[in-house]
Amino acid sequence: MIVIDGSSGEGGGQVLRTSLALSLVTGRPFEMKRIRAGRSKPGLQRQHLTAVLAAAEVGKAEVHGAVLNSQHLVFVPQGIHAGEYQFPIGTAGSVSLVLQTVLPALALANAPSVLKLEGGTHNSLAPPFEFLHLAYLPLLARMGPQIEARLERHGFYPAGGGRVSVSIVPQAPWRPLELLQRGQVVRRHVRAIVSRLPRHIAEREVRAVLGRLNWPPECASVEEVESAGPGNAVLLEIGCEHVTEVFTAFGQRGVPAEQVAASAASEAERYLAAEVPVGEHLADQLVLPLAIAGEGRFRTLALSTHTTTNIATLKNFVDVQVEAEELAPDVWEVRVGR
Ligand code: ATP
Repeated sequence: MIVIDGSSGEGGGQVLRTSLALSLVTGRPFEMKRIRAGRSKPGLQRQHLTAVLAAAEVGKAEVHGAVLNSQHLVFVPQGIHAGEYQFPIGTAGSVSLVLQTVLPALALANAPSVLKLEGGTHNSLAPPFEFLHLAYLPLLARMGPQIEARLERHGFYPAGGGRVSVSIVPQAPWRPLELLQRGQVVRRHVRAIVSRLPRHIAEREVRAVLGRLNWPPECASVEEVESAGPGNAVLLEIGCEHVTEVFTAFGQRGVPAEQVAASAASEAERYLAAEVPVGEHLADQLVLPLAIAGEGRFRTLALSTHTTTNIATLKNFVDVQVEAEELAPDVWEVRVGR
C-alpha cells in the first residue's frame, strides 16, 4: 500500500485529487495521512469528499475515512468502470476539480462515459469552465481521448447550483504531448460575466482590460448569465497556433471591478512576455496526463508549488522521470520520460 503524507508540498486538496486519479489509473491502493493538515479548515471539505466518493464509484473502491473533515483516508480501487454518473457536490465546491479526479481513468476506460456534475463552475482558486473547455480538454484530445464538456448553468461561490455535463470517448494508451512553442497569437478576447449584479461591473472590467493590454474594443464582450446567486468573472482568452490559454479573475465584494480586471490582465501580461505556451495553472494540470502517457514535455513559466507538489505526488504511483530546467528567467521546460 502506498502511504502518502497529505501535508507535503503545497499540502492542499491537489495532493489528494492527484492520488485518487492515479490510484484509479494504476489500480494501486493508497493510504493518506494528514489530509490538508496545513489549511485553516483541514481534512476533507465537501468538494474533496465529493472527489473521493466520485473516485470510489468509478473504481468500485473500498474506502475508509470518507467523511467530512477526515484527515485520514484509505482507498482501494477495483478497476475502472465506465458508465453514466452524477456527481452533485451539494455546495459551490468546484465541479472542475471533481471532474479532473475521475477524468483520467474514464478517458482510459474500455467504453465511453457520461457525467453530470453540480456545484461551482466559476470558483476562485479552481479552473473555471472556460479554462477546461478551451485550454485543458483540447490538449487531452491531442493525446487521444475525446472529451466534450457543456456548461448547462453557471454556479458561483457561495450559492453554487452550476451544472456541467461531460461526455468521454476514451483511448488507451495516450499519446505523448510536446508543447514547446505557442506560435502566433491568433485570438485575443476578454469576456466579463455577471449574474444578479449590475451590468456596469462587467463593462468596467472589460474597459480596464482593453486599456491595460491595448486591445481594440472588438476583443471584448459582456454577458449577463443566469445563476442561483450573484457572481462575476473576467475571462481572458489568448488563442495561439498551438495552444489556447485562459486567465481568470473573480469579482469579490469590496474589490473594485478595475482591480479584478487588473489581476487577470497581469497574469496574461506575464504569459505574453514569457512567450511560453503553457501558463502557471495549466502547467500543474498537465504533468499528470504527461505522466500517464509516460512521455512528453512543455515550456512554461517559473514552476508554482502546485506543480512541484504534483510532480512529487505522481512519482508515488507512476515510474517516470520528471525533469524541470530553467531556460531563462520565467521560462522553464518540464520533461517527462521513463
Ligand atoms: P485547498 O483548499 O486544500 O487549498 P483545493 O482543493 O481547493 O485546495 P488546490 O490544491 O489549491 O485546490 O488546487 C487548485 C487547482 O485549481 C490547481 O490545479 C490550480 O492550478 C487550479 N486553478 C486555480 N485557479 C485557477 C485558474 N484561475 N485557472 C485555472 N486553474 C486554476
